[in-house]
Amino acid sequence: MKATRPQPIPTADTRPFWEAGQRGVLSLPECADCGRIVCPPRPACPSCRGTALNWATLSGRGTLKGWSRIHIAAVPGREPPVTVVEVTLVEDSRAVLVALDELGVVQDLPPDAPLTIGFVRDPNGWSFPVVRPADQEGAP
Ligand SMILES: [Zn+2]
Repeated sequence: MKATRPQPIPTADTRPFWEAGQRGVLSLPECADCGRIVCPPRPACPSCRGTALNWATLSGRGTLKGWSRIHIAAVPGREPPVTVVEVTLVEDSRAVLVALDELGVVQDLPPDAPLTIGFVRDPNGWSFPVVRPADQEGAP
């Protein structure tokens, strides 16, 4: 986690996600019409196209949906291989957060393993999601 990754460029649709992450909190839009958690954040709900979205503070809990190991230089600031993990959020099984497996922990886990999503500050000043097994919650 020493390498610096590119800084995010927050937009009106994503700024609350990044600002909540700076406080260590997972926050995503929730559709006022159908209740779907919209991940990644976007201007309209992917289920009903509703645009009434309210930012919700989430638990940061989820389950392992899958992971992919990338063996080419695809992530600036990271030497390959890197592992990308998909986490199904407990609040909405349609909402899947994608993050780098910063701690290298997901490959030994079974499908649907319980996970927690926290945030760790990068040297570039921004905080990025970090996924860990739920039984390691609170670990550095
Ligand atoms: Zn909706």
